[in-house]
Amino acid sequence: MGVDSELDAARLQLWEDRAKESRRQHVVLLIYIGVSAVIPFVLGIYYVNHSNIPMSVALVSLGLALAEVVNFVLAVRGHRYLAGVLCQLLPILPVLYAASAFSADAGFGSYLFIGALGVMVTIPDGHNRARYVCFAVLVAAVATTQIAFPRSNAWAPLSYDQTTALNTFNRTMMTIALFALALELTRSNRVGRKLVDQSLRIAELVATTDPLTGIANRRPVWERLESAALEGREVSVGLADMDHFKRLNDTYGHDCGDDALRHVAAVLVESLRADDLVARWGGEEFVLLVELPLDQAVPIFERARRRVAERTVPCSSGEPHHITLSIGVSALANADPAAAISAADAALYRAKEAGRDRVVI
Ligand code: GH3
Ligand code: MG
Ligand code: MG
Repeated sequence: MGVDSELDAARLQLWEDRAKESRRQHVVLLIYIGVSAVIPFVLGIYYVNHSNIPMSVALVSLGLALAEVVNFVLAVRGHRYLAGVLCQLLPILPVLYAASAFSADAGFGSYLFIGALGVMVTIPDGHNRARYVCFAVLVAAVATTQIAFPRSNAWAPLSYDQTTALNTFNRTMMTIALFALALELTRSNRVGRKLVDQSLRIAELVATTDPLTGIANRRPVWERLESAALEGREVSVGLADMDHFKRLNDTYGHDCGDDALRHVAAVLVESLRADDLVARWGGEEFVLLVELPLDQAVPIFERARRRVAERTVPCSSGEPHHITLSIGVSALANADPAAAISAADAALYRAKEAGRDRVVI
């Protein structure tokens, strides 16, 4: 019961959770680009302060830091895809330049290695091709640093201590980055699974809800009857049909008819307990499942019928109308759901024959 409000709540929750995840991924991208600006800046300052390191290497490093700042602005402005790809590609040339100057031993290839996981975090879902292309370019660049820049080829070789210091710094940055990226991927994977579960729940609610009245449709009726049959629970079945509904429709229009259907559904839901089930069987017929033996359920069906008869139907046009229900009742005997529904249908027919506005067993 209250399926419709549950559906609205589930939709709203999914919408909020998606927006939250999207904001979170945006923040992660900004942090990634921010760190990608800070590292070359720190290295650039280090180079400037060491007279044996050529100024061109320092300028390239500081240039990369500046480019990452521009990229950061792009990301802030919402160009997430472009910024995500750029933050993977921008470091390639500076890294190759530093490796050519100091050799592969200084460990600059580490920054390209980060991209192996980085592409999954910075390039948005739905751009898999861009992820693979960036990944391939990064792998090629890592291979180039290792193969093309041995120590013997370095054009600005460093002292052993400097090489070790740079190598330690670069590899430490890589280790921290890979760990942080693995954590982030685990987190976003968990959130992704949660969003899928929420979507499935919404699909299930949509499939089991009558869109006009917001109550259950036929599917939950069969499910409930079948599970009760399997577990041997006693269930009473009421099949309720609105009396002379066609007349209301023909006289006051279909909108008034729809209002009446919604009104009756609401009165029926209110008349039963939360663990009973009210469903729209089709047209102007409702199924009421009450988890009690027949003798205890009949007064409940009777109360529901009386409430519908007593209350007026508020039509959108303003005029109040009276509507009555005929209810055929049966028990889920011999654990046969289809037989229980046919028996209720036969009883409903007798209720109509006997003059309507009554409960017949
Ligand atoms: P009885 O007392 O014998 O049940 O008479 P009745 O007029 O209620 O029964 P009948 O089967 O002749 O007419 C049912 C009407 O219900 C006809 C159909 O137009 C109307 N109806 C079915 N579904 C909807 C709906 O979703 N909205 C509206 N407004 N009317 C509907
Ligand atoms: Mg009917
Ligand atoms: Mg009818």
